[in-house]
Amino acid sequence: MDLFKPMGDLGEEPQEKKSEIKETEHVKCLIIGSGPAGYTAAIYSARANMDPVLYQGMEPGGQLTITTDVENFPGYPEGVSGPAMMEDLKKQAERFGTDIRWGVATAVNFDKYPLEVTIDEKKLIVADTVIIATGASAKYLGLEAEKKYAGSGVSACATCDGFFYKGKDVAVVGGGDTACEEALYLAGLARKVYMIVRKPYLRASKIMQHRVMNTPNIEILFEHNTKDLYGDGVVEGAILIKKKGTPEEEEVDLKIDGFFLAIGHQPNSDIFQEYIETDDIGYIKTVPGTTRTNVEGVFACGDVQDRVYRQAVTAAGTGAMAAIEAERFWAEKFAQTK
Ligand code: NDP
Repeated sequence: MDLFKPMGDLGEEPQEKKSEIKETEHVKCLIIGSGPAGYTAAIYSARANMDPVLYQGMEPGGQLTITTDVENFPGYPEGVSGPAMMEDLKKQAERFGTDIRWGVATAVNFDKYPLEVTIDEKKLIVADTVIIATGASAKYLGLEAEKKYAGSGVSACATCDGFFYKGKDVAVVGGGDTACEEALYLAGLARKVYMIVRKPYLRASKIMQHRVMNTPNIEILFEHNTKDLYGDGVVEGAILIKKKGTPEEEEVDLKIDGFFLAIGHQPNSDIFQEYIETDDIGYIKTVPGTTRTNVEGVFACGDVQDRVYRQAVTAAGTGAMAAIEAERFWAEKFAQTK
């Protein structure tokens, strides 16, 4: 399979939609996304004189801004809060001259070169290199009730919304590290926290399992699935199915005030899918051992291309790789001509 798409002619005029595009700007390196991957790519690109422009996207600072303590990022022996770490990364990227901007990439055209990215549907960035660091977003179960009670008892962020459940009973869906982290955070506020886990075991790391199991007000409901939520305007309870598909299957009515999702994430790759190869879930495919995508000049780093590790430190690592590869690509292509 030919992994690389042919590039358009250099110097080709961008074909922006004149009616909507109000402004066009040419940049050497465009970074989309502001999590650990995006900011690390920015630090490296700025130090390599790539004059990076970084658009922060829908969730400035990325997923770590809605987490509590980060205890596993090297260099912070006492741990650090997610938002504080992201602020540090942002300052470090700014220190070397990264142009950090508000704005969301709303469309791309990677059929031509230079590469085209539309920001907020009105500004066209024409870029020599693009680093995609758009991360991933929380997944939902797909129940109608999740939409019905969004903001009225259903949440995917305990740190953001936990405060509203002081002294109340809540449930967290999921058995991974995120679910344990959310449950532990909520246990400090709520009266009781149920973990709704579909398997007979937790997938989380041993240390997190140990913590939830030793927290008196957390109860783990193994082999339970959520069928529905109910309540008059706000969540008042969940209907669960215990031991689904077995002879002991039974329906359980769980009285709760809050329902928190922690069942993993979906990569934010929608706008790229017409041009960039992704896997069945939507994670961007990169050439093994690199951050190169199937489009020349486009690199992907962080959670949008990582379905395995998904750690802040691995995101930062791939951010550095993307910046180095983008700089080498640019140097080979333009060093003689610009
Ligand atoms: P994971 O993919 O690790 O876990 C998702 C959990 O949700 C699993 O228990 C899974 O069940 C369950 N789940 C998925 N879909 C459904 C569904 N439809 N219905 C019910 N349950 C469902 O995601 P996490 O977000 O927890 O973690 C992602 C990565 O981030 C991991 O590598 C993790 O280690 C890391 N992480 C590390 C932290 C730390 O070290 N402090 C904190 C948070 C995350 P099943 O097991 O049955 O598939």
